[in-house]
Amino acid sequence: MSNKKTALVVGSGAGGAVIARELQGRYQVTILEEGGDFKPFSLPIGKLAALRRTGVFLAERMIRLLLPNMRVEKTKDMVLVRGIGLGGTSTLATGNAVRYDGSIRALGIDLDEQFEELYRELPITTEHQKHWTDSTRKMFQMFEQMGLNPLVTPKLMWAPQCVECGHCAIGCPTGAKWDTRALVEEAVKNGASLVTDCRVTGLDIENKTVKAVHALHHGRRETYQADLVILSAGGLGTPVILQHSGIPTSGSLFVDPVLCVAGPREGLGQDRQLLMPFISQQDGFILSPYMDYLSFFFNRSWRLPMRNIASIMIKLADEETGDTDGRRIDKSMSSDDQRQMDKAVDMSREILERMGVPEKEQFLGTLNAGHPGGMLPLTEKERDTLHHSVLPDNLYVADATILPRSMGNPPMLTIMALARKIAALL
Ligand SMILES: Cc1cc2nc3c(=O)[nH]c(=O)nc-3n(C[C@H](O)[C@H](O)[C@H](O)COP(=O)(O)OP(=O)(O)OC[C@H]3O[C@@H](n4cnc5c(N)ncnc54)[C@H](O)[C@@H]3O)c2cc1C
Repeated sequence: MSNKKTALVVGSGAGGAVIARELQGRYQVTILEEGGDFKPFSLPIGKLAALRRTGVFLAERMIRLLLPNMRVEKTKDMVLVRGIGLGGTSTLATGNAVRYDGSIRALGIDLDEQFEELYRELPITTEHQKHWTDSTRKMFQMFEQMGLNPLVTPKLMWAPQCVECGHCAIGCPTGAKWDTRALVEEAVKNGASLVTDCRVTGLDIENKTVKAVHALHHGRRETYQADLVILSAGGLGTPVILQHSGIPTSGSLFVDPVLCVAGPREGLGQDRQLLMPFISQQDGFILSPYMDYLSFFFNRSWRLPMRNIASIMIKLADEETGDTDGRRIDKSMSSDDQRQMDKAVDMSREILERMGVPEKEQFLGTLNAGHPGGMLPLTEKERDTLHHSVLPDNLYVADATILPRSMGNPPMLTIMALARKIAALL
């Protein structure tokens, strides 16, 4: 029998997949994943769009009928989105690979080496610019003319395979987009075990050691044991497991709220465009072209055919003031968040106006968010260990939960760099 130490990794998204791939070999790894295989959106969008008039798309939660791995939860004033299944939320991501570790560096945590490794190993590229459609090029020029300093987005993708279908966030049909399922596959090839449909519910802790991990596997109670446990169930999943195990979390949830400002623009064809091909960084938010499927199906203002809609996304760095206990998510826009959002909406309206969309015809999307994190934030105290003192000695957290601040920016690459650093410390 092997006397290799064992590790349980909970979740297979940005944090979990990296940890599992890095640890397998040094440890015998088992991945416990709540969901199953990722299933892309496979129905004809045109026909479904026609159904919008019948009022069949009642509530955002129904998106699961179209995209089973997308979980949608509602707070008082926004819709929260995450991916449950192999690859976690990375399967729904638009593939943006942005380094954004200023708040982590400010704590004295240096991720240079980890980012360099990720740039070396992953298909991160701006080559997609060569394949941009006319409408993307024109939008880029418009941003430039307005002094918004747009930068081509580095993407996790094999650019030559991209057919500019605009389906990045609902299941790339050509395999051009990279997501963390590739790392899970590698870990499994190297001997890791993968248990899907296995929702971890809590941990037994004795003498500052995790003794057992409790889960529902295909709905049946199971118990797992290992020398080391890593929670990577995401910014909404991990805090709940910690709380159910008697470990307090802080009410510092951020989510990076997203709002699209849109309007009619006959034949623009933004539906057949790489999502977020470029980004304009502003103070506290970003602006980027984005076709918003949630608003398109569930927001009554979005009744036009997709090809005739121009849409600019605002993504905001929000105040870290939310909380969840698993039953309820308490998160709303603070007055500062709203002030920032109003400023961003005004800028987006001006962009659209210059694109030929009169302000009186413009409409807003549904306020939503897909970057939850921050409920066990790193501080200077964890600078060298990346391990909080409230955690048992053999328990680590490696996902968005430990990010110290909201970014208002794509966080996946930074979460992966942090997870690599944690793996190196173990
Ligand atoms: C539509 C959309 C587009 C996005 N696009 C980008 C982008 O282009 N670039 C970018 O950087 N970021 C993007 N993001 C955000 C990014 O995907 C997430 O921030 C990132 O994946 C979070 O990583 P994580 O490891 O914290 O959690 P996740 O990737 O969400 O992984 C959590 C994993 O844990 C599993 N899990 C949850 N609870 C349990 C449990 N109790 N037991 C077992 N398993 C559990 C889940 O199934 C999942 O596999 C996007 C998000 C959305 C919603």
